[in-house]
Order: sequence, then structure tokens, then C-alpha cells
Amino acid sequence: MADVLVVEDDDTIGSVLEAGLRANGFRVQRERTGRAALQVAGLGGVDLVLLDLGLPDMDGVDVCRELRSSLPSVVIVILTARTDEMDVLAGLESGADDYLAKPFSIVEVLARVRAHLRRSAASHADGEASTSMDFGALTVDIAARRALIAGTEVLLRAREFDLLARLVRDAGMAVSREALMSDVWDEHWFGSTKTLDVHMVALRRKLSAAARTSGPDAVDHMPQIVTLRGHGYRLDAIGE
Ligand code: CA
Repeated sequence: MADVLVVEDDDTIGSVLEAGLRANGFRVQRERTGRAALQVAGLGGVDLVLLDLGLPDMDGVDVCRELRSSLPSVVIVILTARTDEMDVLAGLESGADDYLAKPFSIVEVLARVRAHLRRSAASHADGEASTSMDFGALTVDIAARRALIAGTEVLLRAREFDLLARLVRDAGMAVSREALMSDVWDEHWFGSTKTLDVHMVALRRKLSAAARTSGPDAVDHMPQIVTLRGHGYRLDAIGE
């Protein structure tokens, strides 16, 4: 459930927004001044702010700027009664994502709010997927080249990490020895694949030792690297 902060000093508009959003499954908090809004937003947990620009105590544009600098990922939609394009521009330049010009219908507000929250959820999910992935007790952060078990880093050598990262990339699927050799070592590898087995043994040993150190819960939720005889390996995620 998303949390929406409505900042509006006009009680008619404020209560329509509050009731409409609440009836559609949003958690809503309503504030009438810029200062109160900044205070509430500062406590955290707000996903989207509907911000009236004409507030009694502060210029809405300044409120918007402060919100944006303290909460980079919050969605801000400004509400303006003023049809002056300069106000809309000032609001957008101060960090708002979008604006709604009064008078607006609650249907229009809901559509806009939902669209923004979907987009923002998708971009957060992308950000996480591209840097770190969880497989039970194991977290692999490809970008940072770190492997963690129950939050504690496992020190892996470069090739060991590359092997793990390659299995993680196709987690749950069989990865052939040829694919591992060419992706982790060299695409023109003609030598023995013994080196793959040696690194795999070391990788498994380090992961299971780290899990044992972290405790029985980590051991129970460790993904297994399964050997597929005559083919390769597969990372089975357990405990997800
Ligand atoms: Ca107002």
C-alpha cells in the first residue's frame, strides 16, 4: 500500500483528495502548511506528495525544492490553481515530477498517482536487480563484485567470483562447462577444464564455510551449486 501526503490548505479540495485516495486503497496523510508537510515527509515512509503551490506559510516551490533535496526518490506532483505556465515551470524546475492544474477530477488524480507509483516502483526494482540479487542467505552484488552470506562478506578470488556471477546470471538453469570456461576464462580456451573444477571446489568450500560461520539459519537457506554430470552446473536457490 502506498503512502500519499496531501499538502493542501483548501479544506474542500483537501478532503476530496483525502477521501478519494483513501477509498482507492492509499494511506493518506493531509497537511495544511509547508512546514508541517516538510516535518511529516522528513519522518520517512511517504511515496508520493500532492503539493499545492499556494500555501499559507511558505511558497510551494520552496517546499518542493526542500522535499526534493531531502527525499530524492519521492514522487512530487504539484497542484496549482494558477494557470500561469511560469508557476508550473518553477515547480518542475524545483524538482516536481508532474503537475495537475485545478480544477481536476479525482479520477484524473488517481490515474496520475497510480502511473507515477508504478513507474517509480519499476525503477527501484531495476536498480536493485542490476546491482544485487538475493538467493536465500546468499546475496550477490555483481556491480560491486561482492558476495555476502547473511550480510557478511565472503572473500572470493576474482575467478571464483566470476564463476559465481556466471551461475547467478542463469540461476535455476543448467550452465554447461563450455559456457563457464568461455565466459569466465577465455572464449578460445582449448586447454584442460581441470581449472574449472579446482575453482568450483574452492568456491563451494568458501561459501559453505561462511554459511557455517553465520549459523544454522544461513546453512538452511544456502543455495546449492548442483553438479550436472557430463554437462556442467546449476545454482539452485533455496529458501526464497
Ligand atoms: Ca492553496
